[in-house]
Amino acid sequence: MALSKDKFLSNKGSPVKRVRHSELERFDPVGSLFKSVCPECQDGILLVQRNLETLELEGIDNCIHCGQTFVYVDIEDMRRVLG
Ligand SMILES: [Zn+2]
Repeated sequence: MALSKDKFLSNKGSPVKRVRHSELERFDPVGSLFKSVCPECQDGILLVQRNLETLELEGIDNCIHCGQTFVYVDIEDMRRVLG
């Protein structure tokens, strides 16, 4: 998987997309519950960020490959289930 800077920047200006984290494909089915396959490029990963001060899960995320920004509409459920 190439993580060139060009790729990261290529899609950055596109509109935010709303997704349900629970419906995304997990990047590694036996690994982290947080990592999801990017539904935009299918190559990148959504890692789920944490607020550095409150440690709460962030409701907004960026694909590390294409740079697409996503909003998790089920962020409250994620915080309950994933902590
Ligand atoms: Zn992507």
